[in-house]
Amino acid sequence: LFSPVEMAPRDPILGLNEAFNADPREEKVNLGVGVYYDENGKVPLLRAVQAAEEARVAEHAPRTYLPMEGLAPYDLAVQKLLLGADSALLSSGRLITAQSLGGTGALKLGADFLYRLSGKRLVAISDPSWENHRSLFEAAGYEVVTYPYYDPATHGLNLQGMLQGIEQLPEGSVVLLHACCHNPTGVDLGVDEWKQVIEVVRKRNHVPFLDIAYQGFGDNLEEDALAVRLFAEAGLPCLIASSFSKSFSLYGERVGALTLITETPEEGERVLSQLKRVIRTNYSNPPTHGAKVVAAVLNNAELYAIWEQELAEMRVRVKQMRQALVEKLQAAGVQQDVSFIQQQRGMFSFSGLTREQVARLAEESAIYAVGSGRICVAALNDNNIDVVANAMAKVLLE
Ligand code: PMP
Repeated sequence: LFSPVEMAPRDPILGLNEAFNADPREEKVNLGVGVYYDENGKVPLLRAVQAAEEARVAEHAPRTYLPMEGLAPYDLAVQKLLLGADSALLSSGRLITAQSLGGTGALKLGADFLYRLSGKRLVAISDPSWENHRSLFEAAGYEVVTYPYYDPATHGLNLQGMLQGIEQLPEGSVVLLHACCHNPTGVDLGVDEWKQVIEVVRKRNHVPFLDIAYQGFGDNLEEDALAVRLFAEAGLPCLIASSFSKSFSLYGERVGALTLITETPEEGERVLSQLKRVIRTNYSNPPTHGAKVVAAVLNNAELYAIWEQELAEMRVRVKQMRQALVEKLQAAGVQQDVSFIQQQRGMFSFSGLTREQVARLAEESAIYAVGSGRICVAALNDNNIDVVANAMAKVLLE
């Protein structure tokens, strides 16, 4: 039975952890995985999370099953965060949200739903995109194509290419869009750019599928929801995969959600009934702990304020590390313009390092980055930034 099974290739990102862990050198630095580390190089347990957890443990509540679509106060809080507390959609009956196993789980639910119930077979992702987008949609049965996104010459957005690429897709294609803090490039769209994308999506009857895994890491919670709100305002049916892995530092609890904007309350009911079947036949119902904690924070003004402050601290620290990296690269003699590192948003920098340079960083300096040149700026701190900047400068200069 298992003898013909071939070895799978290493995951391009999670596989890096294995190589990193196996490296015996003491000064090693892992810039691979998209995880926020604090100034001491630790994954933080947020104060708001800790308070909510303590209250939850003190309850000694029984562990029953959640409904298939998850915890109701959690699902509602997700909708508010995405669409704004004063959005008319909240009470419209047109919004459907299901708690999911992280943002990845939300993407998979959406992919399965569109495949099974809407007959979708083609999805377009940005070039480049988070590595798992392609694999996940291919595993769900789709053909995956790309639309232009990043312009390596300007380190910015190739808007015309993006619009044309989306326009040229077969009518009714699924178009996956990073709502903010694009992974891996850190290049985002502004209001006018989003409006142009929305018009093309509308004209071509495409299905917008927004992925928002870093809300709060760009400007703030409200402004980072811009794309979601513009699509909602435009009145287009839409899918949104959201995640609290990063914004709550709850990676291992798998807390995310799939939200669908439907056209009528009656359609919403039908969609929810089918989404529940997709969930039931995948994993039956989601886990409790992470959603309880997040709901407790989001639905309590005091805890919410603490969380917002902690999220701001994470965002500001990443920005400081961007600035420090640029300054240190320049101080180490790098002549080329690296100021784009400071303009990029979210946790990552698409550093422009080539595959060979990334390989040299690992080999010569025990610094691990993704082969595409993506580095996690949130893994830099005052203790490792000099080592990283000097090693990067060395491979850039030679
Ligand atoms: N989408 C993007 C763009 C991501 O970067 C990530 C996390 N790396 C996810 C989705 C999935 O997040 P989660 O860990 O919550 O599954």
